[in-house]
Amino acid sequence: MLTDEILDKYEMTIGIECHVQLATATKLFSSADNDARDKAPNSVVSPVDYGLPGMLPVLNRRAVDLAIKAGKALNAEIARVSRFDRKHYFYPDLPKGYQTTQMYQPIILAGYVDAPLEDGSSVHVRIHHAHMEEDAGKLTHFGDYSLVDLNRAGTPLIEIVSEPDIHSAAGAKAFATELHRLMVYAGVTNGDLYQGNMRFDVNLSVAPKGATKLGRRAEVKNLNSFRSVEKAAEYEFRRQVELLEKGLRVVQETRGWDDAKQKTNSQRSKEDAQDYRYMPDADIPPIVLTAEEIAEIQATVPMLPSGYRERWLPLELDRSVTDSLLAVREHAALVTDIQDKAGDDIAKRVAHWLTSAFGRTDDDTATAATNLSPDGYIELAQMVAKSELSSTAAKEVFLEIAASSESPRAIAERKNLLQVSDEAAIAAIVDEVLADPASQASLADIRAGKDKAIGYLVGQIMKKSQGKANPALAQKLIRERM
Ligand code: MN
Repeated sequence: MLTDEILDKYEMTIGIECHVQLATATKLFSSADNDARDKAPNSVVSPVDYGLPGMLPVLNRRAVDLAIKAGKALNAEIARVSRFDRKHYFYPDLPKGYQTTQMYQPIILAGYVDAPLEDGSSVHVRIHHAHMEEDAGKLTHFGDYSLVDLNRAGTPLIEIVSEPDIHSAAGAKAFATELHRLMVYAGVTNGDLYQGNMRFDVNLSVAPKGATKLGRRAEVKNLNSFRSVEKAAEYEFRRQVELLEKGLRVVQETRGWDDAKQKTNSQRSKEDAQDYRYMPDADIPPIVLTAEEIAEIQATVPMLPSGYRERWLPLELDRSVTDSLLAVREHAALVTDIQDKAGDDIAKRVAHWLTSAFGRTDDDTATAATNLSPDGYIELAQMVAKSELSSTAAKEVFLEIAASSESPRAIAERKNLLQVSDEAAIAAIVDEVLADPASQASLADIRAGKDKAIGYLVGQIMKKSQGKANPALAQKLIRERM
């Protein structure tokens, strides 16, 4: 049995590789559509993607621009000269017989990501490099035969390779989550995890704490959610510790993640490094960039998550609220917009409404408000600040504004939610309640110094006004009358 005491003797070391699908209209080297969603198999494939004889690939400049933006989000230098290589292997989903990738001169050089953790600290992960490459096709296996779909062949990717700087499963999840936010905010990818827009490979090894040499690592491939990154790291750590405790060795291999069983399983051994016979791709000229060009493209990168976190400091939001806003870029932009127009207090109210209404899921499946104009939200928050609406009623109105563009006042009127702050109207109800024989015990209690008893009277007034009386005003009128 693995006790906490045993686990505590070991340290895990994790490096992550992440393939990011670039949000271009066309493929990396052909004019075929880059959006393969809901397309019939092999319907968005050009001769280049089929690797037909005589084809000539042409580099998609838009993909280069997105890689340059990704470099900014990764705090990395961009290589002034980078180029493509051929990585040879035979597989039915790779008709050319080689993948076009960047082995020796990648476009994105060393950088780093600071990923915030739950406890308020953060994990600093160095980026070794990131390179551009094309995706392969997809194989679907049916008993004794398999079908090939090349719709995805030639899809532009960047592969981000981290240094082994992560030492916890929570850190691995935090890094994957922040990497996703960075790539989405920088406009590099659509970031749809369900569609495989970002796929994580977790390299994990285990060694006794304080050891100077890393253990032998296993690689868990193709994780497509932040949660599975965390769970796979937790599982691999325990599995490898168990082997070491039994005096066995960890096999260097590629493993897959079984989400239903929450387990990794062996796919293929990596004992001998494969020889891919890398060679420069003679069909594609090197990418040569000027400093001015790089600066110009990077200047178009909008505010990144760290920028939002800094802007929101005066709002003093909880970490969970910040995360839920950042999970939907439009929400983050909306709150910042409101902050500029109407100040911190109003922005904070709206931030909390957005979070409680749209919540946060573990991955990027959060739904979003459709009305992203700040004016209605500002007006709603101001109505609450002026006691025209209770905070409960405001939440109801909020949901309607978020889904349409009707003004908050119109919604509140239609739903009969406006608080009565008209003194004469409330005074009449107060008098009625105070005259009620059922109220006399509470009145006596208040006179005897049990001030809490006023709650009963305010409750009665709220009831008689169908929840619309301004409770603060009702309390004031009761005290005046006593
Ligand atoms: Mn790759």
